[in-house]
Amino acid sequence: EQEIIKLLGEEIIAFDVETREKLSKDYYWYSPVLDNRLKGNKPADGVALPRSEAEVAAVLAFGYRYRIPVTVRGAGTGNYGQAVPLKGGIVMDLSRMDQIMEIGDGYARVQCGVRLGVLDKTAREAGQEIRIYPSTYVKATVGGFVSGGSGGIGSITYGNLWDGNVLEAVIYTMEETPRRLVVAGKELYDYIHNYGTTGIMTEVTVPLAPRTEWMQLIAQFPSFESSMRFGEALAKDGAVHKRLISPMEWPVPSYFTPLIKSIMPDMAAVMLEIADGLLPQVEALAQSYGGQIGYAVGPEKYRKTIGVSDFTWNHTTLWAMKTDASLTYLQAGFDPADYIGQIRMIKDRFGDEVLFHFEWVRGGGRVIPTALPLVFYKSEERLYEIIHYCESIGVKIFDPHTWVLDNGGRGEVGSMERRKRVNDPQGLLNPGKIIYDV
Ligand code: FAD
Repeated sequence: EQEIIKLLGEEIIAFDVETREKLSKDYYWYSPVLDNRLKGNKPADGVALPRSEAEVAAVLAFGYRYRIPVTVRGAGTGNYGQAVPLKGGIVMDLSRMDQIMEIGDGYARVQCGVRLGVLDKTAREAGQEIRIYPSTYVKATVGGFVSGGSGGIGSITYGNLWDGNVLEAVIYTMEETPRRLVVAGKELYDYIHNYGTTGIMTEVTVPLAPRTEWMQLIAQFPSFESSMRFGEALAKDGAVHKRLISPMEWPVPSYFTPLIKSIMPDMAAVMLEIADGLLPQVEALAQSYGGQIGYAVGPEKYRKTIGVSDFTWNHTTLWAMKTDASLTYLQAGFDPADYIGQIRMIKDRFGDEVLFHFEWVRGGGRVIPTALPLVFYKSEERLYEIIHYCESIGVKIFDPHTWVLDNGGRGEVGSMERRKRVNDPQGLLNPGKIIYDV
């Protein structure tokens, strides 16, 4: 303890139990499976709160010298236990690295601890806006989103993090003398959604889009299928600029207590953000699928009050869990050519044990129905029975009930493992999150 304090100074090191416990947790309690496994986890032995790249490098060099694990965190809003230090050691909180370095024409260069909401506000004042962000944007950091998230509001137009939504990153390695790497292009794949296992990101450049004035709508439909077909048609309509299409079956909208007066009962709802001026087209499209617009808020209220996006992505799950603590969720990719058939098969088999919530996104040039379905949790066995059934009918599951990268949403991790061997030869960065032998 004395040595690290001498090396780094008292202002950036904390050993008190309260800080260690607080900064050793994230939103893993979202999953009853993870909650069960992680709630007894011991907190980190110490916390570092660096303010500069030099201090980050000093913490990493110290950890390397004494073979102490280092687990990084931004705001700790990840919900897979990604930021939990499974093997103790140091938690390095990067929230003080919060400088916006540059807002250029079409891009922003920021330190990793900048909150996405702050970046977007600053960009909008400069006539631009961020392209994609999670529904946790008020708290979440840019570095935490890039290292632990995937997509969100805006993904219906710009795809997820892997679709050109990170332009460049400054990475520090975990070695005797940490190297400073400037990474761009395909090489970024080894650092996006890496849980801080292959290197520590201190600076990120993200693309910006021209500022749009957004309208928020809720369209409602007598059946969930018609709400999905409307969502697909709108997703494919190149004439309507949008950043959110989130269909949900009833009773999911009934969980949104702050909006309840604006929600028609017993109907599916589609939460929407569309560019100002396009309401007539979208309303006509909704009517052609038997729907109607029950709630419309103009751009003057954007971000001034609770927004429709506060009920989408994983915030849908949050509202549901507030209403019924036995609800949990899955992450799923449906077949764009047969999603209605897949939805019907799951409903036939599990009924209202599974409640559908979709997010239409763009990926690899296609429009894709992704889902964060709600599930009434009975047991781990039953949850995996549902998962295995979904997989058996061609629905891809990105398991949110694991902290291991190899088993979750990241897909193939071979190239990340190779990168880790070079950048973190002692396996000290966030141990346990990637299956890796030193
Ligand atoms: P943290 O939770 O602090 O960290 C995330 C991971 O990245 C950890 O493994 C951490 O070790 C690592 N990390 C953090 N900073 C760095 C760094 N600088 N260098 C290297 N590694 C680092 N996610 C989405 O993608 N889309 C959503 O719409 C979305 N909605 C959510 C809604 C709710 C209600 C909740 C609870 C979570 C949601 N999430 C979503 C997950 C999460 O909030 C986001 O991914 C968020 O961007 C994480 O940012 P953070 O700063 O809190 O990161």
